[in-house]
Amino acid sequence: MIKVAKFGGSSVANSTQFRKVKKIIDADHDRKFIVTSACGKETHEDHKVTDLLYLCAAHIKYGVSYDSIFQLIEDKYMSIKKDLGLKTDLKAEFKKIRAVIDRDLNTDYLVSRGEYLTGLLLAEYLEAEFVDASQVMAFHYDGSIDMERTAELLNSHVQKGKKILVPGFYGALPNGVIKVMSRGGSDITGAVLANVVDADVYENWTDVSGFLVADPRIIDDPVRIPRITYNELREMSYMGANVLHDDAVFPVRSKNIPINVRNTNDPDNPGTMILNDCSDMDQKEPPHAVTGITGRKDFTVITIVKSHSSAEVGFLRKILSIFEEYHVSIESVPITVDTFSVIVQTKAVEKCLYEIVSRLKKEFVPDDLRIEDHLAMIAVVGRGMKKVPGMSGQFLSEFGKNGINIKVINQSSDELSIAVGVDDRDFEKAIHAIYDKFVSQARRLA
Ligand code: ASP
Repeated sequence: MIKVAKFGGSSVANSTQFRKVKKIIDADHDRKFIVTSACGKETHEDHKVTDLLYLCAAHIKYGVSYDSIFQLIEDKYMSIKKDLGLKTDLKAEFKKIRAVIDRDLNTDYLVSRGEYLTGLLLAEYLEAEFVDASQVMAFHYDGSIDMERTAELLNSHVQKGKKILVPGFYGALPNGVIKVMSRGGSDITGAVLANVVDADVYENWTDVSGFLVADPRIIDDPVRIPRITYNELREMSYMGANVLHDDAVFPVRSKNIPINVRNTNDPDNPGTMILNDCSDMDQKEPPHAVTGITGRKDFTVITIVKSHSSAEVGFLRKILSIFEEYHVSIESVPITVDTFSVIVQTKAVEKCLYEIVSRLKKEFVPDDLRIEDHLAMIAVVGRGMKKVPGMSGQFLSEFGKNGINIKVINQSSDELSIAVGVDDRDFEKAIHAIYDKFVSQARRLA
């Protein structure tokens, strides 16, 4: 079995966290490939190393001394080294970094040093071979990852029985120049590695025990989602749940490698498994109807009513093209006869709403044009819902029972999700009602 284990910034924030990582790696010899982020925040007031490095780059650009900020970074690494009794020559590394950036600043090089230094220390501590990401993570000049070259390079480093540690977040262009990924990119490094080594599982170690059925800021102690499909995850993220970066999902999904989101601070918790297809496991243990409840406030609905427009070919396309001109991304388009509603995030139309409206009025001369703000969208997502007859009826009736007015309804054609729009003021109440009925009650009855 081959496991790729990626540790996020909070998992390597200090020596205490390093010790937890070591326990996790030592507990399972299948964890042969390790990817690390740069040290994250130790406390709420602390700063991520990557943020400090970006700050150094900004100082250099404006000709202001970056010394005091760089010192904070040096101190952080020195204290980890000292606490763990490591030998890595950090002083030489700091000197080299300073020399390189003083000569000619390459921001990507500078900010990649967070992962690089964390990787050096962690590799020594875990007794793994340190493989610099610039030697194995190959980019094309357009910034996309060259999977073939990466596989070739990485395979040349694989030695039987030896663990490998690769820093996340950066790689090199074909000319050897260091390039970083978008923020949070270590997730992508882990996924690419999992793809090229044909891992059986990609473990993503972070500071939460996987995904929760509902937002813990609204529901006290919500239950964990043990298994979720990639499609369900998409539905959840579309409505605002904070989940993995798309680019981190693609390399593993294309090879059907499960992602296991785990908690470094609670390693016995099995976390959440994300799979392409859960049907084998679902047969053994059928899923609950609802996998997750998600939602977001502050949408705006623009409704256009015009007689006989439903029969006019291209009417909807013409409406949407106006939104496109203003680069407004559309969340949903509920339609009934001669009535077209366009739902967008309020902040996306903040600056252009009145221009869009005047264009709509001018070009379509509608019978009525309404704008409604303060709409919250709530979605229940679940691959198990298909099997429950009358599920949407039960779902909608919960709103009625709780005196919550539904303004919009949208069910995905694959029955994977049902979304409703309610007033922002009813958002939390609606989430509670849905959670009580479809999660708490359903589990009590199961
Ligand atoms: N250290 C980088 C960041 O803070 C990349 C990562 O942590 O994945 O965005």
